[in-house]
Amino acid sequence: MCGIAGIYSHGPVAAELYDSIIHLQHRGQDAAGIVTYDNRMHKEKGVGLAKEIFNDDNIGLLTGNIGISHNRYPTQGGFGHGEVQPFWTSVPYGIALAHNGNLTNYNDLAAEVTKTETRYLNTTSDSEVLLHLFADDLHQEVPPQTNEEFFDLLCEAVIKIFQKVTGAYSVTSVIIGKGLVVFRDPQGIRPLVRGERSNGNGGKDYIFASENTMFYALGYKPKGTVLPGELIYISEDGSVFSRRLVKKEFNPCIFEYVYFARPDATLNDVSVYRSRLRMGQNLAQAWKHKNPNKIPDIVIPAPSTANTSALSFAHELGVRYSEGLYKNTFIGRTFIMPEQTERKKSVRYKLVPQETEIRDKKVLIMDDSIVRGNTSREIVRMLKDFGAKEVYFACACPPVQNPCFYGVDMPTKAELIAGDMDETEIEKYLEVDVLLYQNIKDLVEAVTRKGNHYIDRPCMACLDGKYVADDINHAKTIEMEIMRNDNRSGNQPQGA
Ligand code: SF4
Repeated sequence: MCGIAGIYSHGPVAAELYDSIIHLQHRGQDAAGIVTYDNRMHKEKGVGLAKEIFNDDNIGLLTGNIGISHNRYPTQGGFGHGEVQPFWTSVPYGIALAHNGNLTNYNDLAAEVTKTETRYLNTTSDSEVLLHLFADDLHQEVPPQTNEEFFDLLCEAVIKIFQKVTGAYSVTSVIIGKGLVVFRDPQGIRPLVRGERSNGNGGKDYIFASENTMFYALGYKPKGTVLPGELIYISEDGSVFSRRLVKKEFNPCIFEYVYFARPDATLNDVSVYRSRLRMGQNLAQAWKHKNPNKIPDIVIPAPSTANTSALSFAHELGVRYSEGLYKNTFIGRTFIMPEQTERKKSVRYKLVPQETEIRDKKVLIMDDSIVRGNTSREIVRMLKDFGAKEVYFACACPPVQNPCFYGVDMPTKAELIAGDMDETEIEKYLEVDVLLYQNIKDLVEAVTRKGNHYIDRPCMACLDGKYVADDINHAKTIEMEIMRNDNRSGNQPQGA
């Protein structure tokens, strides 16, 4: 999971790209990078949080009015400075690329890129392979002269990518002497939104990003989403070219709404905040129906992604909402921490129960999702330690039963608690009096009920096993899980 941005502006873009990284920091805290260009490319990247990597001096060296940025989602090993995005190549033109997603046919693509021995891979990142495929297809003996000719060439190159590359990919790219390019895979699995602002001279500036969380701060107005299969090119003179090259079902990731995206984001023309409120409403209705005699005294969210859905859940149930668990926000989210032992240690370290909210009460804890189950079990134990009379558990997301191969670093199936336990077994494992998961139908309803969106059917492969790009079978699952395990030991390609 990562965050990407691309900006075309009338003035220097480096500071705004830095702001974009800050506003997308929740999508990746492991590393970050910025590439800008004027007559040559300028790059700065590093491992850690944006504020640890960038400073006045290195931002000042990133000159140019066009650029891209990348936030890297934490991974478990095999991760060096050389694998931090954006990647770049000097042939042809000078191209840099930032990618959010995961290619599922990396091995085939890597073999293709290197077979002619005209290109070499310096890393094990699938994003580098994507860059070289793109660059190869743009390499012409007689380069196009006009913007229109160049856009036609871009269309041909991206169509070839759509034909060859499987998996998920939202991309921002800069090409020296040409401008800013963005495209999104044919099913639009990973998000990519767009915004515009007036430049004060009758022209416009343009921004593209994984989420619109920085638009207001930077003065951009949201202009919807980059459509699945769409290519957009902003030439150096500010001309805008766009074409939807392939039309397939629109299958954006549903987990963005459940967990990843910031609540103030609007993705695929659906408000994340409102979708979470609806998740809470739908789950409360199901709770009343299934457990009419188990109405809690208090609803406490597992902070902080579940806060929004817990609020509407409590409201719908007519019981008090309480922030009975205080979260120390200076510790990273446990979902993205590398090892189980660290995770176990960190829950009590980062969540502090408020006894006055818990003692002698029937407490319902609400979480956005249950992935491995360790955090949930620790929370339940903490509530009992602090005197809860009964503990109920409501989960805004249905059981996560399958790994994600589209850019979210979910564990292998064996590590998922719902990978081999049914809901009764999970209820017992969590040591709760009642457990209720949202069902898939109600989750989809919550995400798609409102908004002027074009979503056909969200990707829910981690919930229902239907991999929307039709690229995952049993053999591929084994291959991808082996690669994922190798990633952790630092040997194999990694998604972005
Ligand atoms: Fe999102 Fe799950 Fe699909 Fe991955 S498998 S893209 S996490 S919905």
